[in-house]
Amino acid sequence: MIKLALFPGDGIGTEVAEEAVNVLKFLLDNHSVRYEIEKGLVGGASYDEYGKPLTDETLKIAKNADAVIFGAVGGYKWESLPIELRPEKALLSLRYELGLYANLRPSKIYDELIDASPLKKEVVQGTDMMIVRELTGGIYFGQPRGVFDLEDGQKKGVNTLVYTTKEIERIAKIAFEIAKKRRKKVLSVDKANVLECTELWRNVVAEIAKGYPDVELTNMYVDNCSMQLIRQPKNFDVIVTTNLFGDILSDESSMVAGSIGMLPSASLNGKKGMYEPIHGSAPDIAGQNKANPLAAILSVAMMLKYSFDMDDLADNIDKAVEKVIKNGYRTADIYSKAPGTKLVGTKEMGLAVIEELKK
Ligand code: NAD
Repeated sequence: MIKLALFPGDGIGTEVAEEAVNVLKFLLDNHSVRYEIEKGLVGGASYDEYGKPLTDETLKIAKNADAVIFGAVGGYKWESLPIELRPEKALLSLRYELGLYANLRPSKIYDELIDASPLKKEVVQGTDMMIVRELTGGIYFGQPRGVFDLEDGQKKGVNTLVYTTKEIERIAKIAFEIAKKRRKKVLSVDKANVLECTELWRNVVAEIAKGYPDVELTNMYVDNCSMQLIRQPKNFDVIVTTNLFGDILSDESSMVAGSIGMLPSASLNGKKGMYEPIHGSAPDIAGQNKANPLAAILSVAMMLKYSFDMDDLADNIDKAVEKVIKNGYRTADIYSKAPGTKLVGTKEMGLAVIEELKK
């Protein structure tokens, strides 16, 4: 029996999560996998009902589950709330409380969607990379931090970049394990020429690499990496990097693939994970059956793979999504009036994936 928590959230989060769960249920039922799904309110929806974006009850559901399926949170309605009460706080609290230290962001270009990428066809064609970002350490959490008053009346802003050997080892192992199932290449990104902390990062990753003789390790400075990602994105396989560098590089890599509506993500603590599309709640199109549900559907495929080792079922979803794209189904964000394409809504896209899975 697999235990799942479902937190659709706000705006299009609810719409895309519904399609993702429909696809998941169809697949699990079809393969006689037993499951239990417990639903909870998060974000603005939780604030409206309980006065806070994440309640203890909802957190308990997350902690008891093997994996969490998350839609998206946020919206105009809650923008003027104090930071502690804003919908986005739910996401950060869940990551922290569940200790989700590894963020996985694949970025893949589908041949049929190449025109959706701002880069030239010959540059992006064949791109299929995975960024493994450390998520609970580094400069976003290091102490001391803050803005301090100086005696001469000036202020001093401080943040601290800190990583321990253990933190680097565990994220590196995740990257190497993933690379073993892909093209067997890990690129570790740092700024070891300037930052001692990332010199330690480079050395620890090299130590871990010794346990994976079949995976090739290379290193790159982050400034060069941000350039190469645009210049030769198809050269990358697995990239492992710190919280700050990963935050920036993963957004850069998502643009290579065109629409934000196509990109899934996983945040892991060992096998336990939270799975969500990388996009937000898109209040501009919420409630209109316009959102692309494929990022959410692909997130569920990542869940089957990384939390439950059901690689075959995950592949089924990946292939069904590929086929649906090939067959010309397009939500508005990826629609280009090309011959053979048809504009569909969120629900129709979800159904098309299920129809493909039936074949
Ligand atoms: P967004 O990702 O919600 O939307 C950016 C643009 O992309 C919008 O034009 C939107 O219509 C479009 N878009 C996003 N997902 C799409 C999809 N699946 N299909 C088609 N088009 C899609 O980012 P934003 O507008 O900066 O933020 C909106 C709200 O979402 C804010 O409250 C923000 O804080 C929140 N947010 C939440 C998360 C999350 O829950 N993980 C992430 C980012 C932003």
